[in-house]
Amino acid sequence: MSDVTPRLRFAPSPTGYLHVGGARTALFNWLYAKKFGGQFLLRIEDTDKARSTDESTRAIFDGLNWLGLRWDETVVYQGANVERNRADALRMLENGTAYRCFCTQAELAERRAAAEAAKDSFKYDRRCDRLSAEEVQSRVDAGVPFTVRFRVPEGTTSWDDLVHETISFPNKDIEDFIVLRTDGTPIYNMAVVSDDIEMRITLVMRGDDHISNTPKQILLYRALGAPLPQFAHLPMIHGLDGKKLSKRHGATAVSDYQHLGILPGAMLNFLALLGWSPGHDIEVMSMERMVELFDTKGLQKKAAIFDPKKLEWMNGQHLSLMSASDLAPLVTPALVSAGLATTEDLYSRRDWYLTLLELLKVRSRTTDDIVRQAAPYLVDEIRYDPEAEAKQWKDRPATAALLREVGTALRDLREWEPAAMEESLRALGERLGFGDKAGKIFQPLRVALTGLSVSPGIFDVLVMLGRDRSTARIDAAVARLESGGPPGA
Ligand code: GLU
Repeated sequence: MSDVTPRLRFAPSPTGYLHVGGARTALFNWLYAKKFGGQFLLRIEDTDKARSTDESTRAIFDGLNWLGLRWDETVVYQGANVERNRADALRMLENGTAYRCFCTQAELAERRAAAEAAKDSFKYDRRCDRLSAEEVQSRVDAGVPFTVRFRVPEGTTSWDDLVHETISFPNKDIEDFIVLRTDGTPIYNMAVVSDDIEMRITLVMRGDDHISNTPKQILLYRALGAPLPQFAHLPMIHGLDGKKLSKRHGATAVSDYQHLGILPGAMLNFLALLGWSPGHDIEVMSMERMVELFDTKGLQKKAAIFDPKKLEWMNGQHLSLMSASDLAPLVTPALVSAGLATTEDLYSRRDWYLTLLELLKVRSRTTDDIVRQAAPYLVDEIRYDPEAEAKQWKDRPATAALLREVGTALRDLREWEPAAMEESLRALGERLGFGDKAGKIFQPLRVALTGLSVSPGIFDVLVMLGRDRSTARIDAAVARLESGGPPGA
């Protein structure tokens, strides 16, 4: 690497939400910039006025902010640079690397159709490049509209892609492409190159759907006498069926995952593995660790697979690594909006709340999971999961009798603490002839206390609920079992 400070940019078109593919590209640019002490810039490519919206631009800002991908310097809006883009195109007219083309769209369409009819591939035949200087001048003076076309030189255009190694395109396959429309607005590749030069971008890292634009862009850099940046083309992202990721595969907007209770850190970690491998089987990483490990050598060529189950798993990993006090600000609003608690209530018993989060986070994949599992500790009346009830309370009269005994044993405890609970319940198990199969007590009791078949350890549950609530729940379960109604009734 040269001693120039790396400058990278993420250049989304604001024509929708922030797609996971875009976020992945932003992340890799950001990681590279952080790793090598460079700058990560944001350019909104809003030249397509018909499709660009302020709302999409906001969605891009919001998505990047949620992920913590802060950009340096002020945002560049491509649409504001048309004057400079045009000046650059005109500079190419002056230095002879481009020429005026007076062919109209209708004429070009006609020639294209004729070529297709003759089963020929169409390529602009450079007829306007053969006009004499006087002819060109007289047409310009007469106000005949013209486009500016780039004159593709002979030879081959190659670059050493950081992902794909050497990529070469024979120039004969590239037609003399338009850089400026008749109305003086720049064509996409012209705007991108003019802006990337102005922004002093040293590495262009983007999706590999842009590979075919790159030779044209390289030719423009050369024509403008500007130093070439490096290029890295990242693999596409596919769904589990191997097809390009789209809405058919489910949520593809970063904000969807935000609303599904995914942590930004987990989302970033998951995105980082879409096309990059840190090696050594490393998967779970903090942002700092990703910066430390990031290396373009680990970038992959083959399409990455977006597996939502892996994202959930990743989220579970990040949840269990977070401290309860860091988790609280994320979970509290969800508990409040689910009507399970008030902020004041949780604040007034903060230690209890943090212990609860500590117990639940290791059993949850999303913050929504935490909310679901937290319900029994926060409400008076629990909901019984029909499956848990059917499975753990199969013999309802026998379960009622068992829970009655459990209730009595627990009510008699002098201290409401785990060792005493365990001693008493194990003694009850012995007495009932369960031997060391304490699960025969714990599982039905778990359903009685939480309505669920999965929960933290049973003594933790009892402690968190407290004596009164625990015994009241056991009584309610006995009443429910004895009422003889069907499970879930
Ligand atoms: N605006 C382009 C896109 O959204 C990116 C162009 C580039 O990175 O050069 O795909």
